[in-house]
Amino acid sequence: MKLEVTGLTKCYGKTRAADGLSLSVASARVLVLIGPSGGGKSTLLRLLGGLETADAGTVVINSHRLLTDPAALQAYRRKNGFLFQQFNLFPHLTARRNIALPLEKVHGHPPAKAEEIAMQALDRFCLLDHADKLPAQLSGGQQQRVGIARAVAHQPEVLFLDEPTSALDPEMTAEVLELIQELAEAGQDIILSTHEMGFARAVADQVAFVALGKIEELSPPAELFGEPKSALCQRFLSRVMRY
Ligand code: ADP
Repeated sequence: MKLEVTGLTKCYGKTRAADGLSLSVASARVLVLIGPSGGGKSTLLRLLGGLETADAGTVVINSHRLLTDPAALQAYRRKNGFLFQQFNLFPHLTARRNIALPLEKVHGHPPAKAEEIAMQALDRFCLLDHADKLPAQLSGGQQQRVGIARAVAHQPEVLFLDEPTSALDPEMTAEVLELIQELAEAGQDIILSTHEMGFARAVADQVAFVALGKIEELSPPAELFGEPKSALCQRFLSRVMRY
């Protein structure tokens, strides 16, 4: 994917969650956002994914300029896939229906076709045994895997993942991270935020350190984790990598 972000600004009251943020990525399969809590990672993901509109600034993703009118944003969102920390699945629907329903309602597939694609997605991620279970009958890791299966069932151009493992224990975290890695290796473009530094280092082509509503540093992972240039990034990494 190619990304050109200029002067992106988003305020919530007096908080500048994106503060004239600029970012230029010529080519990356996986862009990982890291940084302190409240630094603006989630806001940036929502702006890049078209889930929110910026107060100012421009986003050009794969040569497509993000427009702000509701119809264009809706069409753009439909092309992409999303997964957040938790509460992704409809609690009253089985895993299979959770995947099939958006394929019908959002992507316009006839019910039989939506079911077929849903079963293929469950099969791809070794979730067929769970097709007819409700979210409450699945572990947190399985729920996130179903969430990812749903997010990629319509073959999104870009998959946006906002701290997909932050609510999971270590073993479930591993199963979700492995799945994300598999998707990346299969060629899926992904933008994700995470607190899992080892994973960020392993899966990213580019890592952006986001703090105070700006990109403080953008580098390939070996560089950013090996020799961070910005003082803020150095401080952050020395704190989070200590334990
Ligand atoms: P991160 O993902 O790095 O933790 P966020 O993008 O969630 O950072 O938050 C950046 C700042 O914007 C924080 O100060 C947060 O409290 C604020 N913020 C984010 N979303 C909202 C919102 N919907 N309403 C009010 N403030 C928000």
